[in-house]
Amino acid sequence: MSLFWSPLVHRLTPYIPGEQPKRPNLIKLNTNENPYPPSPRCVAAMQNELGTDGSSLRLYPDPNADSLKAAVAEHFSEFAISPAQVFVGNGSDEVLAHAFMALFQHNKPILLPDITYSFYPVYCGLYDVDSVTIPLDENFEIRVDDYAQENGGIIVTNPNAPTGRLLPLTEVERLVASHPQSVVMIDEAYIDFGGEAIPTAVALVNRFPNLLVIRTLSKSHSLAGLRVGYAVGHSALIEALERIKNSFNSYPLDRLAIAGATAALADKLHLETTRRAVMNSRAALTAALEGLGFEVLPSAANFIFTRHPQHDATQIASALRQRQIIVRHFKQPRIDQHLRITISTDAQCQALTAALREIIRH
Ligand SMILES: *Cc1c(COP(=O)(O)O)cnc(C)c1O
Repeated sequence: MSLFWSPLVHRLTPYIPGEQPKRPNLIKLNTNENPYPPSPRCVAAMQNELGTDGSSLRLYPDPNADSLKAAVAEHFSEFAISPAQVFVGNGSDEVLAHAFMALFQHNKPILLPDITYSFYPVYCGLYDVDSVTIPLDENFEIRVDDYAQENGGIIVTNPNAPTGRLLPLTEVERLVASHPQSVVMIDEAYIDFGGEAIPTAVALVNRFPNLLVIRTLSKSHSLAGLRVGYAVGHSALIEALERIKNSFNSYPLDRLAIAGATAALADKLHLETTRRAVMNSRAALTAALEGLGFEVLPSAANFIFTRHPQHDATQIASALRQRQIIVRHFKQPRIDQHLRITISTDAQCQALTAALREIIRH
């Protein structure tokens, strides 16, 4: 606390990110990073941008990141998305922050699930947006009918975090269609792990001017360290985001991020290979944990949400930590007996299973 803090700073409750330990040799299953390296084309593009002496860094990057917007539009060419329907930012966290400020009404509460990405309430605090939480049902699923009330906007994560549960695209459509007066945001940080065909709401963007889909390259493109996120929506929504961005920071993405992300999005084969590997490991890990008596929610993400009926989640998490394995535990009503565990390579998943077998025997 300081005499010099503004009233706003006194009121804030900042987000607490998952731990990024400095120790090597940990099995890190706590922040849903991808275990595989990014596309080699992404690495080559960044090296090329840097050149031999780095002199390109003398110059500011493209403030509009046109090449990246074109790559996003191209990525969704089957849905006829144009670059004017794309906004890019420094991680989807930044895109979300701008979206909260630009597109949620400040005179009516927004609706969000009781269990969801815990950054949303933080943005509500930062931008003075009221919110009402709508409980997930007893199976941790979103019930679209529960959202039938007046609101200043709606945001859901799909697949949801930290539950991993997927709201089918038909239900997403029903949610968006039943609130034509509000912006409905679908945070699809994990959608690329959502099945054989990717059930993305980007498919609906050209039919619903109130829909904003938010994505990140952090998870499915193995680029959490590069900080690139984007949104796809009607060009009027995108223009609102641009107005905020250009009143805040004209150059949110640096030259290396623009070059790397542009190349990463063009490498569809790399995405296909790595997302399939993660989905296969998820199936194997789910079966192994069920064999140990864990209950595992069906997951469409690169993590699973699980509990053991006979063992306390906090104790399991600390016993794993003693064995150099870090998972995520939320001290929050309804889910304090669950653990969120990132899907890694099969080798790391097997190390986890072996550790859990040992822990629950004691
Ligand atoms: C990881 C995550 C983000 C943030 O992604 P960045 O692009 O790394 O900022 C946003 N939403 C959800 C639900 C996430 O899990």
